[in-house]
Amino acid sequence: MAEMLRDKTGRILFTKEMKQDYTILCPQMAQIHFELIVNIFRNCGYNMELLTNNGPNVIQEGLKYVHNDTCYPALVVIGQFMDALKSGKYDLDRTALIITQTGGGCRASNYIHLLRKALKKAGMEHVPVVSLNLSGLEKNPGFSVSISMLRKIIAGLVYGDLLMLLDNQVKPYEINQGESGALVNQWIRQLSDQFNRGEGYTLKQQRQNLNSIAAEFAAIPVKHVPKVRVGIVGEIFVKYSPLGNNELERFLAEQDCEVNVPGILNFALFKVDNRLEDIKLYGGNPMKFHLVNLMMDYLLQMQELLISAVKTQPCFEAPANYAHIKALVKDVIGYGNKMGEGWLLTAEMLELVECGFENIVCTQPFGCLPNHICGKGMIRRIKEIDDRANIVPIDYDPSATRVNQENRIKLMLAVAKEVLNQKIAAQQPEPEASESKEVQQAAV
Ligand code: SF4
Repeated sequence: MAEMLRDKTGRILFTKEMKQDYTILCPQMAQIHFELIVNIFRNCGYNMELLTNNGPNVIQEGLKYVHNDTCYPALVVIGQFMDALKSGKYDLDRTALIITQTGGGCRASNYIHLLRKALKKAGMEHVPVVSLNLSGLEKNPGFSVSISMLRKIIAGLVYGDLLMLLDNQVKPYEINQGESGALVNQWIRQLSDQFNRGEGYTLKQQRQNLNSIAAEFAAIPVKHVPKVRVGIVGEIFVKYSPLGNNELERFLAEQDCEVNVPGILNFALFKVDNRLEDIKLYGGNPMKFHLVNLMMDYLLQMQELLISAVKTQPCFEAPANYAHIKALVKDVIGYGNKMGEGWLLTAEMLELVECGFENIVCTQPFGCLPNHICGKGMIRRIKEIDDRANIVPIDYDPSATRVNQENRIKLMLAVAKEVLNQKIAAQQPEPEASESKEVQQAAV
């Protein structure tokens, strides 16, 4: 075991020595994105491992160590860590954990303290916990995110968003089942290899890769038949994590739906944009404003790359850009609603309805006040704006049963299927006058 150094609050520091021989466990959220990002960390010298343990035991472990009135994502993430640490698979004297700290007003900044409390209760207090944050919160001598790493991580998000988007557009219609999923995995490997060689994240290389991804997905043989189209929005963890949302995407696929899950890049843009708004409203260091502005421009440029790549293939539907999404909620909800997913959650629902995904599952974790306000709380307003909206809010908490959640979604889908059938019927050509006469005669 490496020598334990502590800061003045008593927190165990992740040291440079630990960087050499510790395994850092990372919880699972968005599968494609996280596989790419964990590879980037490995390439930057961190022995990181993405956790894949799931099942009821994870929730049970969470319930043992986290009070059940805490945000559900905290319970799941901490449960996954504790389940992994107790599995016997890891040397607890050479294992660290990593968790994000957003630095906003939400409890997400405090999950790290709940995790340390859980470790203490389980007698594993010596396992260091690394904070992943860009807000200057907790620092560790053996862990830092350089500008070059940040560029790679952003590239990982962009690739992840594109692979997720195209997989969702192709998979429901593919003729040879599994082709789209196989292409996703092939690109995860290919991109990880590129990152390992220090490639794949310059503007030119990204444009090439993104265009190639779009072209390869467009080449998958598909058969388009009318399907119910469903968007998924909500608090970031339960929106993406199959463990958090009881495999919602798989369930919707089984119900023969086409799914659209808005990407993570917009969430990153939203978080950076909030910093700019804060400085504009409350003042702040002009240098900080300049740096945040640079970051905003960079992310916008990345989003444009992604959108143009999708547009190279007319068979795909490109997502709207951040400016359009932000404009959708002007006069609908204030831009000051920025805790959790804030106004972005309302905006994503409006954008989904606008682009033909009027059926929406709004995933709501237990304990999440911001998302109840900007998600469930905005449904009536969204319906006033566009009466095609067919939204069901689904609560996710340790006591909610999957069958109950799925039954509520099935009710929403029943309405969606009725509307789809009406649309199909309306598109059928009117029978010719003589034809209808023959039909009448035959009926007589
Ligand atoms: S967004 Fe919701 S679930 Fe996440 S930390 Fe904030 S209150 Fe908790």
